[in-house]
Amino acid sequence: MTARKPAPIQKLDESVINRIAAGEIINRPSNALKELIENSLDAGATSITISVKDGGIKLLQIQDNGHGIRTEDLPLVCERFTTSKLKVYEDLSTIQTYGFRGEALASISHVSHLSITTKQAESDCAYKANYADGKLVPAKPGGSSDPEPCAGNNGTVITAEDLFYNILSRKSALKNTRDEYNRIFEVASRYAIHNSGVAFTCRKMGTPKADLSTQQGASTISNIRQIFGGKIGGSLVEIKHEDADLDISFSGHVSSAAHEMHKSVFLLFINHRLVDNTPIKRAVESLYSSILPKASRPFVYLDLRIKPENVDVNVHPTKREVRFLKEDRITSAIVECMHSKLVSTNSSRSFAVQS
Ligand code: ADP
Ligand code: MG
Repeated sequence: MTARKPAPIQKLDESVINRIAAGEIINRPSNALKELIENSLDAGATSITISVKDGGIKLLQIQDNGHGIRTEDLPLVCERFTTSKLKVYEDLSTIQTYGFRGEALASISHVSHLSITTKQAESDCAYKANYADGKLVPAKPGGSSDPEPCAGNNGTVITAEDLFYNILSRKSALKNTRDEYNRIFEVASRYAIHNSGVAFTCRKMGTPKADLSTQQGASTISNIRQIFGGKIGGSLVEIKHEDADLDISFSGHVSSAAHEMHKSVFLLFINHRLVDNTPIKRAVESLYSSILPKASRPFVYLDLRIKPENVDVNVHPTKREVRFLKEDRITSAIVECMHSKLVSTNSSRSFAVQS
């Protein structure tokens, strides 16, 4: 190979930086939705309604009844690294909110046409604002970009349209709108199960019947039954455990060893965040494969709480993973608790049959 001269190093243009960063955080409609649901929950919403067109690519809208956004914050809200949740770095170790980086709305505004309508309870009217690339823009060319007063309910409606209109490679990779809708439904229904204090609705725009509709205050188990069907709902055993030594507690609903499913379902929340954790998932699956008939798979919903100081939530752009201390011991504690619960449930069942 002939040696070539290095190209000069140049700083990327701000808009290029922002679009690249946005593409890392928002890689498909369902993770835009995850960020938006988390914002609604952070705002104290008890009702969240999701409407979707073409798998969320044409339109993704989420309405909540949370505390709204201060009118004076509307010019800032979609800029990168603007947040009402974190002030100094140290706050991260005790953070109670889902959000902390102030990147979600900014990212969505860099890859879609975004609008926000919001009303605080004490305000006489709502305000609507439109955004592109982090900044306020006019609703129509030539108009004013200032937020406009309008009618609206308490809370916030966020609408993202034409997702990835400016990242054509990403857009063309997302052709299967049904698959994207299924992912949206999955995110919404998992948050619905974990947040039984919040009513969740999810529907395709223009269809009269919602695909997901949970009531505020319905029990976790009745939400699981509604979403995954009565057969699973009827076969679940409850687990609950506290470990002072490890500074953790967990609870959940898992399918009994007697129940057979063909596809495994694994819902893991760590400190209320929906996350992937391969070691825990593998350990739980191998526990089940040792007790279930071949080809049968478990249903597991696990709500794990770890002292916030022991968890690092800032390891992945989509926050899909978290790291925590004593992972091996915590994994073993979960597996042991499940094992003894499943064994005792099974033996009490067989005892009941024998007697
Ligand atoms: P983060 O959640 O990390 O703060 P976001 O970009 O997701 O960053 O949101 C920026 C800010 O916008 C939040 O800190 C919050 O103040 C406000 N916000 C976003 N969505 C909502 C909502 N649904 N209700 C009230 N405030 C919101
Ligand atoms: Mg957020």
